[in-house]
Amino acid sequence: MAKTWVFVEETEEGPATVGLELLTKARGFGGELAAVFLGNGSEENLAALGAHGASKVFHMTPSDALPTAAAAAALADLAGSHSPDLILFGLTYTGRDVAGRLSARIGKTILSNATDIAMEGGMVTVTNEILGGMTLVDAIFENDPPYLVIARPKSFPAEPSGGGAPEIETVSLPDVGHAGSAIVTASHTEHLEGPKLEDAAIVVAAGRGIGTEEGFAVIEELASKLGAATAATRAIVDAGWVAYSKQVGQTGKTVKPDVYIAAGVSGAMQHLVGMKDSKVIIAINKDEEAPIFGVSDLGVVGDLHKVLPKLIEALGNR
Ligand SMILES: Cc1cc2nc3c(=O)[nH]c(=O)nc-3n(C[C@H](O)[C@H](O)[C@H](O)COP(=O)(O)OP(=O)(O)OC[C@H]3O[C@@H](n4cnc5c(N)ncnc54)[C@H](O)[C@@H]3O)c2cc1C
Repeated sequence: MAKTWVFVEETEEGPATVGLELLTKARGFGGELAAVFLGNGSEENLAALGAHGASKVFHMTPSDALPTAAAAAALADLAGSHSPDLILFGLTYTGRDVAGRLSARIGKTILSNATDIAMEGGMVTVTNEILGGMTLVDAIFENDPPYLVIARPKSFPAEPSGGGAPEIETVSLPDVGHAGSAIVTASHTEHLEGPKLEDAAIVVAAGRGIGTEEGFAVIEELASKLGAATAATRAIVDAGWVAYSKQVGQTGKTVKPDVYIAAGVSGAMQHLVGMKDSKVIIAINKDEEAPIFGVSDLGVVGDLHKVLPKLIEALGNR
């Protein structure tokens, strides 16, 4: 019977959503499903892990030290004594850090950037996208378990199963010497107005076509009229016009909103990979040859500085 573990870190809003997505996916593998939870763990957070399918939670509570090195060491010990077949991580800073350190400790390969995972008869197949999502590649592990996989957020829905309270096993974090000596001295939470980019039903994204940093104001205005989140291409993040937290794409976030409005975005492969699965894509670009029109459901060829104010005005009249 397969044993799957999902590493889940705690965030300000509760267990990381990608962890809940992976628990939901892993429920379908059958067998035993446990969460390895790194965080203070309120009753509510631990219950959420159970509700998403974990029958057991290995609970690690961090101190004020950067916890990833110690968490990887504790996870290596746990894996040695419990022999899980598969350990899943979300593509987050903490998930990647713990997975990489664990891989080095136990000498196991990681398949990363997964957009799908299948387990059949002990064989694990990991799918990821290459060439900007144009081609899917399936890879299998040929070594012995545990198999380590890092998956992209939003690859699976997070759906509670109605599962009960999980069994909790407290796991202490070992002293890992120099590797664990970095101390967290401050942490900053970005305060958002409007919905969170990853969860928003509507996203309004800007590219270099906005022209200047000030050009982002029209994007924000439209987003606020629509109750949408704002997003950006890497070009304008690199230019310092918009915060990295808004970047969508290969080296940014993956989003799947109901509606994605791309204004002044050319549609480079590295951007498309983060938004092409949105339900409806609307593009505004003054170049009718722009690749973004290749994935759009609705395209407006025009200057965004003329089109968007008209749209905002029309919304105001409704
Ligand atoms: C390893 C790697 C990773 C990357 N990761 C990412 C990533 O995660 N996300 C990402 O976005 N990019 C990423 N990139 C960069 C990517 O290749 C593109 O350079 C970037 O997406 C282009 O951004 P853009 O569309 O804003 O700019 P441009 O390509 O310069 O396009 C601007 C568009 O605006 C249009 N335009 C100009 N003026 C107007 C106007 N007034 N009205 C309407 N339209 C107008 C133009 O016709 C053009 O199509 C990555 C690149 C590499 C090499």
